[in-house]
Amino acid sequence: MFKKRIPLVSGKSESIFAVKSGKPFISRFQLTRRQRGTIFSQFVKLITITEAVLKDIEKSIVERKDIQGLFDALKKRGYQISGPTLRDNAVIYDQISSIDELPIGWTDTQEKGNYRLTKGNKSSLFGYVVGPYSWKRFLYPPERKLMEVKREGTGFAVVKEEEAITKQAFVGVRPCELSAIAIQDKVLMEGPYADASYKRNRTNAFIVAVNCLRPGGTCFCSSMKTGPAATKGFDLAVTEMIEPKRHYFLVEVGSKEGSDVLKDVPNTAAGTEEIQTADKAIQKAAGKMGRSLDMKGIKELLDDGFDDGQWAAVAKRCLTCGNCTMVCPTCFCINVEDTTGLTGQQAQRFRKQDSCFTVEFSYIHGGSIRTSEMSRYRQWMMHKLAYWQDQFGLSGCVGCGRCITWCPVGIDITEEAGHYRKKG
Ligand code: SF4
Ligand code: SF4
Repeated sequence: MFKKRIPLVSGKSESIFAVKSGKPFISRFQLTRRQRGTIFSQFVKLITITEAVLKDIEKSIVERKDIQGLFDALKKRGYQISGPTLRDNAVIYDQISSIDELPIGWTDTQEKGNYRLTKGNKSSLFGYVVGPYSWKRFLYPPERKLMEVKREGTGFAVVKEEEAITKQAFVGVRPCELSAIAIQDKVLMEGPYADASYKRNRTNAFIVAVNCLRPGGTCFCSSMKTGPAATKGFDLAVTEMIEPKRHYFLVEVGSKEGSDVLKDVPNTAAGTEEIQTADKAIQKAAGKMGRSLDMKGIKELLDDGFDDGQWAAVAKRCLTCGNCTMVCPTCFCINVEDTTGLTGQQAQRFRKQDSCFTVEFSYIHGGSIRTSEMSRYRQWMMHKLAYWQDQFGLSGCVGCGRCITWCPVGIDITEEAGHYRKKG
């Protein structure tokens, strides 16, 4: 709680504004209309200034030469660090332990069915856009053993395996990916059937988000309101600033743990100019999105277009390869597979990532219910943009653009959604 005495213009009376739990109240009245107006405008000014001051306090500067200190601080606390690195001509996410393993100096160009690494600013650590991997690889791995049994006499015994609890730190999480993680949290941790393994991984995760200053050709987070700035869901959020004579990181703290980690990294308080420069760079990025998707009423438009001929037209191109579901950071469908050893002495049960593009995915007793390519493609897109809203009250798409980039035939969810809007 803070209090501020505000002198009134006429001096007839004086009131004290107090802000408690974010709500203002006036202790004494007897005010003219004009006085009330003055108080209100001064109050708004006061709140604005206070917010700006608080924002400034929470932002720090870490110089490029000190950024390895962030990795060291995380390692000191027992975190296993995963972040972007180069492999197979792409930026992927894997375990790393030093900033030297980041894709320094690399960027990428992305378009429908096209991804190419190119040389970017030779100093940049985070100059690329999202690649084919997402953080679900670590939080909700594509394959996980659920149980194992061994024969014992005429019966069997369950082999008990304690899952190692690893503290994971994710460095380089993009704002759209924070939203994707929040969606998976809702799907996998809320409700009566929370996924225990996901919950464990998620609870122990430390997130270093990186704001986007150079969106890719297939990005549309701005229209989905999921980027290009990280607003919540991180422990630390970083904006990489490269100026002619200076390379530094503006760091925002998002949690107590984030604040503790930052204390171990050499840093200084950010000045207003540094904050404003970074804000402007992010705003500029928002205006440079490769694509956009208007979500207003999209569910109703797709519902109405359920029998539209466009589904069949797209299905003629769709290979039903499932790439779009594999790369999507929010897709969560799985299958459960059992295997039995040849000698019959042991059996294992695995959870494996699955895709709605396979015929087997919709298998129920007697056969599959989505046998045509069209029905599978329609199910995928309608789930993302319409059914997800029915199920979870939110969009299943965060605008990362991966499904557009990694679709071998260049099917574009923004273009397809646009078809139903034009028609509607
Ligand atoms: S839409 Fe593209 S990526 Fe998805 S299944 Fe069809 S061909 Fe594969
Ligand atoms: S549907 Fe496509 S653009 Fe949307 S979150 Fe999934 S991969 Fe990204």
